[in-house]
Amino acid sequence: MKDIDFAAPKTIAEAVALLSKHGDRAKLLAGGTDIIVQLREHRRDADVLVDIQRIPELNELTCDAKKGLTIGAAVPCYRIYENKEIVKLYPGLIDAASLIGGIQIQSRATLGGNLCNSSPAADSIPPMIALEGVCVIAGPSGTRELPVEKFCTAPGKNALGKGEFLVSLKFPPPKANSGASYLRFIPRNEMDIAVVGAGVSVVLDSNKSRCTAARVALAAVAPTPLLIPEAGAALVNTGLDAAAIDKAAALAKAAAKPISDMRGDAEYRRHLVAVLVKRALHSAIARARQN
Ligand SMILES: Cc1cc2nc3c(=O)[nH]c(=O)nc-3n(C[C@H](O)[C@H](O)[C@H](O)COP(=O)(O)OP(=O)(O)OC[C@H]3O[C@@H](n4cnc5c(N)ncnc54)[C@H](O)[C@@H]3O)c2cc1C
Repeated sequence: MKDIDFAAPKTIAEAVALLSKHGDRAKLLAGGTDIIVQLREHRRDADVLVDIQRIPELNELTCDAKKGLTIGAAVPCYRIYENKEIVKLYPGLIDAASLIGGIQIQSRATLGGNLCNSSPAADSIPPMIALEGVCVIAGPSGTRELPVEKFCTAPGKNALGKGEFLVSLKFPPPKANSGASYLRFIPRNEMDIAVVGAGVSVVLDSNKSRCTAARVALAAVAPTPLLIPEAGAALVNTGLDAAAIDKAAALAKAAAKPISDMRGDAEYRRHLVAVLVKRALHSAIARARQN
């Protein structure tokens, strides 16, 4: 590995200035579980690593049933799944935070890094989309917000412009009678990436019998994680019976555009989409009915 300068700004403004000055030659470091590996393997190159962990806003972790959830971009997964309020209010997010890598990885890895690495197979992105996550982005012109589903633009690429970086991820307060779930399929239990991932959320009416809103998102079946609005729409105004769930799963399967690779061929992945969407929906519905 070549020599790389290290910078540890303490404010958002300092970080923006460093990124604006060095452009593509600077890379951000959150937990480092992707970027260090990529630099070592010469898959990415940098002259400066900008460590964002000392910036207070990036370490924010606040969860409130009325105000919603804010996760700073430098907050590692373990802080998320050790937070009892988040476990209670956002179990769909916990599904992903607690399965990224193993315990060592979870002590460093962030959801912000998972998103900014912008892998089509990133585990946290489908549940963040299902939960209507919003990216708070800082840059030379100030701060802007972008829904998570619009963030990734191609494998390894995203909507961040020159000098911009992710400050935090915001989630609206959970709606009454709502539930979410994330499931992935991997060929072995640890240390591998998803062959398919499915994140879903449902909102039920006050009788907990009919669906009033739903979102379905997928990973590892297209160049970017996908929100599939037609799959969610197929569930609205139904009693979430088997026919409605089958229809949503079939629409998700039809929207998937997977490639064939060593982890599975395209047809296998399409089959898995339907299986995982159905299972994730059953889990989300059960959680919504428990609330
Ligand atoms: C052994 C192992 C197992 C893994 N298992 C999984 C798994 O099961 N599921 C999974 O999805 N991933 C897995 N990963 C990948 C990785 O751990 C995750 O993607 C993790 O969430 C990345 O977070 P990080 O904080 O370490 O990111 P970093 O490596 O610090 O950063 C990742 C990328 O995002 C950029 N970046 C980081 N923060 C910001 C920011 N705030 N603004 C703009 N850009 C930023 C960095 O420059 C870099 O390009 C695994 C990795 C390893 C090494």
